Amino acid sequence: MQKFSFDKITTHLISSGFVYPGSELYGGLANSWDFGPLGTLVKNHLKEAFRQHFIRENEYIVEIEPAIIMNPKVWEATGHVANFHDPLVDCKYCHSRYRADDLISSQHPDICCDGKSVEELNTLMVEKNITCPTCGKSSFTPIRQFQMMFKTFMGVTEEKSSVVYLRPETAQGIFVNFKNVMRTSRGKLPIGICDMGKAFRNEITPGNFIFRTREFEQMEIEFFCSPDEDLKWFEYFKKDCMSFVQSIGLSSENLRYRDHAKEELAFYSKATTDIEYLYPFGWGELMGIASRTNYDLNRHQESSGNDLTYLDPVTNERYIPHVVEPSFGCERLMLALLCQSYDEEELEKDTRIVMHFDPRIAPYSVAVLPLSKQLSDKAFEVYKNLSRHYDATFDTTGSIGKRYRREDAIGTPLCITVDFDTLEDNAVTVRDRDTMKQERIKLDELNKYLEEKLGFSRSYR
Ligand code: ATP
Repeated sequence: MQKFSFDKITTHLISSGFVYPGSELYGGLANSWDFGPLGTLVKNHLKEAFRQHFIRENEYIVEIEPAIIMNPKVWEATGHVANFHDPLVDCKYCHSRYRADDLISSQHPDICCDGKSVEELNTLMVEKNITCPTCGKSSFTPIRQFQMMFKTFMGVTEEKSSVVYLRPETAQGIFVNFKNVMRTSRGKLPIGICDMGKAFRNEITPGNFIFRTREFEQMEIEFFCSPDEDLKWFEYFKKDCMSFVQSIGLSSENLRYRDHAKEELAFYSKATTDIEYLYPFGWGELMGIASRTNYDLNRHQESSGNDLTYLDPVTNERYIPHVVEPSFGCERLMLALLCQSYDEEELEKDTRIVMHFDPRIAPYSVAVLPLSKQLSDKAFEVYKNLSRHYDATFDTTGSIGKRYRREDAIGTPLCITVDFDTLEDNAVTVRDRDTMKQERIKLDELNKYLEEKLGFSRSYR
């Protein structure tokens, strides 16, 4: 179980500059969030860790950046225009609005609604006597299908012919570029193509802070392979994704796999597994791994009339590649890391809030703190040197104790204090966030020391 309430954690994240309510100046916009300086750093570091693990260190995977607005025929081909719906119900008494599948599963955790038709869900709503969580009554409107893709218009006229959609997933930008990537790269299977970027879904029930929003970032990989190897790669990514999320700081007791049962699987999928995380509000989907067979390429081949087959140079067989898809939500992963890191520790005289981030994820790797304002010039020199290799911060205000607490509360792994002795011995005090122990380090050995202690250096030149 998580030790701290979700309220406590989100209050800290909002007050310290990780996340701000969206459009706050104008009274906000429901369930929209902006990332402040600290949140933006965490998000960037998370994406960088993802890139390092899945792209740089994986010889098969390349990254592309497709457009957000695509030809609407893409979404017709994939079935999104016809089927990307959520089942919406309204309480007849208090008019609260819900997703019928969520409502049923929350009151009957043994019932899985994935893959159920509207008729089946309507029956379950009545048979299981589902009640409204707001007013307790149990009388709902029949389920209506609600299109989740955001529609807009391209060009100067708002006519049917100019309707376009904001992409609801990053994956399709990959499928429509499969042929391009094959043509312009080494052109052999297996090959993974990654896309990281914004996706938009007009969710009926966004909520739980940044867990479910209408605008979010996905980090998706489509891994193309031969039809007889897809289950092997599916197993590979199941393990690899779990080991990635643990390597950046999520603890194994808060993680579990949820294999989808046969009746839950999309009709084209051979296997699907979610990795779930125990958020303070309960278990929730962190990411998913799905075998998508050759469904998407098949659909695009049929709809576009372009040949998307692959000629195996060894067996001389021609086929449409099969695909395994690891799909991460950036903010969900970030939220898990923020919840996992948050801690309050009783000290002798007070309590400190400390965020135990992995050093690669922490907003700042180091803080440089002059003991007195008179030492600001020297300390600034140290800061300028370090900021070429790390996200560093420089703070001169308040007592040194207060500044340590501030850095603990935002998760800075190391504080470097410049004191009067520094001017004589050319050394600084380095304080460790987790142990609070201090060490004296010579300035000309500082870079090497930090690299060892933090386990990395981002050298920008
Ligand atoms: P859920 O069941 O929670 O709605 P999903 O199964 O529809 O998620 P996918 O379509 O598989 O999600 O998307 C892949 C990943 O994208 C999810 O595992 C999640 O991390 C992220 N994601 C999906 N929808 C949202 C959202 N509205 N807000 C934030 N992240 C999202």
